[in-house]
Amino acid sequence: MRKGLTMRKFHSRILYCLLLALSFTLSLFITASAKTLPLPEEFFGFRVGADYHLINYEQAVQYWKKLDEVSARIKLFEFGKSSDGRPMVFAAVSSEDNITRLDEYKNISKRLSLVKGLSEEEAERLSSEGKAIVWIDGGLHATEVAPAQHIIQLTYDLLTDESRKIKRIRDEVIAMLILPNPDGMDMVAKWYHSHLNTPYETSPLPWLYQRYIGHDNNRDSYMLSVPETRNINQLVHHDWYPHVFYNHHQRAPFPSLIFVPPDSEPTNPNLHPLLLRWQNFIGAAIAMAFEAEGKQGVISRFLFDTWYPGYVTQICDFHNIISTFSETFLYHYATPHFYTVQDFPKAYRDFTISLFFTNPWKGGWWRLRNAVEYCLTSSKAVLDLAAKHREELLYAKYAMGQETIKRYHNEPPYGWIVPLQQRDPGVTALLLNKLIDLDIEIYRAEEPFKADGIDYPERTYILPTSQAFGRLLKTLFEVQAYPDLRKYPDLWQSIVEPREFEIPPLPSYDVLGWTLPLQMGVKAVPMNTPLEIQMERISKAVPPKGTVLGSGNYGFLIPYKTNNSVVAVNRILKEGGEVLWSKTSFQAGGEVHPPGTLIVPLSKFSDKKMRSAVEDLALRVTRIKNIPRVSTHGINLPRIGLYQSWTANMDEGWTRLILENYEFPFTTIHNAEVRAGYLGERFDAIVLPNQSAQSIIDGHQRGTMPPKYVGGISSSGVRNLKKFVEEGGTLVTLGSACNLPLEQFKLGVKNILKPLKPEEFFASGLLVKICLDLNHPLAYGLTKETVCFFSYSPTFQVWPSDEKKKPLIVGKFPEENIVQSGWMLGEKFLQNKAAVIEAPLGQGKIILLGPRVQHRGQTLATFKLLFNALFYSTAKP
Ligand SMILES: [Zn+2]
Repeated sequence: MRKGLTMRKFHSRILYCLLLALSFTLSLFITASAKTLPLPEEFFGFRVGADYHLINYEQAVQYWKKLDEVSARIKLFEFGKSSDGRPMVFAAVSSEDNITRLDEYKNISKRLSLVKGLSEEEAERLSSEGKAIVWIDGGLHATEVAPAQHIIQLTYDLLTDESRKIKRIRDEVIAMLILPNPDGMDMVAKWYHSHLNTPYETSPLPWLYQRYIGHDNNRDSYMLSVPETRNINQLVHHDWYPHVFYNHHQRAPFPSLIFVPPDSEPTNPNLHPLLLRWQNFIGAAIAMAFEAEGKQGVISRFLFDTWYPGYVTQICDFHNIISTFSETFLYHYATPHFYTVQDFPKAYRDFTISLFFTNPWKGGWWRLRNAVEYCLTSSKAVLDLAAKHREELLYAKYAMGQETIKRYHNEPPYGWIVPLQQRDPGVTALLLNKLIDLDIEIYRAEEPFKADGIDYPERTYILPTSQAFGRLLKTLFEVQAYPDLRKYPDLWQSIVEPREFEIPPLPSYDVLGWTLPLQMGVKAVPMNTPLEIQMERISKAVPPKGTVLGSGNYGFLIPYKTNNSVVAVNRILKEGGEVLWSKTSFQAGGEVHPPGTLIVPLSKFSDKKMRSAVEDLALRVTRIKNIPRVSTHGINLPRIGLYQSWTANMDEGWTRLILENYEFPFTTIHNAEVRAGYLGERFDAIVLPNQSAQSIIDGHQRGTMPPKYVGGISSSGVRNLKKFVEEGGTLVTLGSACNLPLEQFKLGVKNILKPLKPEEFFASGLLVKICLDLNHPLAYGLTKETVCFFSYSPTFQVWPSDEKKKPLIVGKFPEENIVQSGWMLGEKFLQNKAAVIEAPLGQGKIILLGPRVQHRGQTLATFKLLFNALFYSTAKP
């Protein structure tokens, strides 16, 4: 007994000692963990958001890696490379337990998102078992610096804060913390730090903060033209399926300090009503968090609306992911600024409050740290709401998808039919594959069928609206009917009584019309009756294989109607081949070939090379015996100068991207080179992307930028451009840049839109019809009636003159039915006016392309107007 007792005592003492040792080790470990989880200020040497300090992307990721080494509450993932090759990394932050079960929670979210095969009971069960996945990004627009900096502080706070609120967030939510523009974040930090303490500390970045598209990286979400958008799309819509998507910006309308939802009008009619209510709810929760913390200046229902689907947030909405976004206020970069009421617009100086602006800011110092703290309040409010409403949020996603499937099973449009017979099968496949990338279901008919009275063959593409993300398909494919908000002043409350106002229309935050099949020249037929046939879902659309038809040893005929034929021309010319453009239509091989058909002699381009181009570009080529009896232009590889100003012009970036994609060689030229002259020795064609004439000529004012970036092409550059044309060069002007030769060169052409008042004419981004002269080289390969993108685009009238060489109208607006999608006030001003002109000058020519023929890389139906202008610059008569 005794012994036993002693033994027990002995054992319990050992146990006690062991426990003591364990708890000591554990406490040491915990202390060590806390110690080795470095505060941002310890790691960077300054507080996040400190005056005059910006953390760049590389440093931010290093910090994430440090946190990842120590904490089990964070996991890093790489999800692709940026345009400049930086790895795109994001941090998943949650409780230790959740982090070990990420795949399980992703899978629950995926099943609830895709809806199919899930009963309501199962959906309820999954909603109770899953976690809310909340995406929060900062720095998409890299010069808006506060959001990206706040992500760094937010990571630390979520990992270490032991408050009830943050613990609940870790337990219920998986936060995806993203820095979506790595290249831009590094560029901006570098630019700012290299000009700190100089007169140029707050000067704007003179180039785009994303290699090609800069600020338009928030307009690319359905077109997926750059790697960053594609990587984000893959992560969100194919891998993680978040429930809430929070996208931070930094352009609060001064003197408000942050914009949060509810958004402004007009509201996109295809957004799910439940989603809109959730957005309002989240907005209200954010605003309440600010009021609870005594933070002033929160505004809603102002400026930012949900009309355009190209934003990163909108594309999520159409995937039943509840997006929210904010616009925080900040001066420039990390430089603080003091504001007095005298800096406020007059209307705001009396601090009038309203329901959506309850607590106006009254001025004072405003620094990066303030903006970072505003972002933190807002992000944490969203996470808190997601934690508290986790189950409802998860179920809402399923419910919205389910409702959309049901609704469009019973009401039109039931979907779209994309016929097999298309003018450009390559572009058709491109459009369908974009939809597949956007997680839209596409099918092919397994039998011939009739729809709305029309017969279609087997294998026809069918795109049903009755699918979880059917609202996205509807938004991208239907014609936009934009509401003229002057008629609905009460829309701001609710529609009560239509009234007419004689004021300029209220613009939307972005464009009004975008219908993708129209912009891309793809035939798509809406279905007004339900279709019940056998069909098979496809994972990729493949255009018909390229073929070489016929025989004969003279050479090849390549139809010029596909966009890929442009790539073919560039490849053939680069490899030393010869390309002839037929000037008129002609007969050969039993077919009639329209003007612009490409003739490629075998003598300079072998059959083997042609077959590889045919295969790669899916061309349909005919071999011919003899040289066709038709007069031709010989074309060479054009020597292209692409003008790049120091104003970070997005249209230049888009043009550059498209030229690269279609394999045109080109040289970027800046103001100094245009001012230096001798342009004819270097170039056949010079392209001025869409930019105002004044901005091209004058550029940045002295004192606003480092001297290297001051000024534009100036009057000497204008003279050199004129000389370039007079000596035989081709000047290609896009959109507003047309005004430069119009105003400076006396071409006998005027822009008729110049004198119109805002209450007479309003055309802020829509699709219109133009009629083209298909016998002119600029219009080769296009269609007589073509849809193009128009946004206050220069519209021309030619003066009567006795000159021998008159400006030639190649494209003009029709007499009626000009508007194809979107809305315009003053359509009558465009009737029969010119849109595309070749204006001769000396030995050369100026190509005026008024509409935005390569707008945001979306207008594939009119890319060729630009490409033709470039080939035409080398065309020998
Ligand atoms: Zn922004």
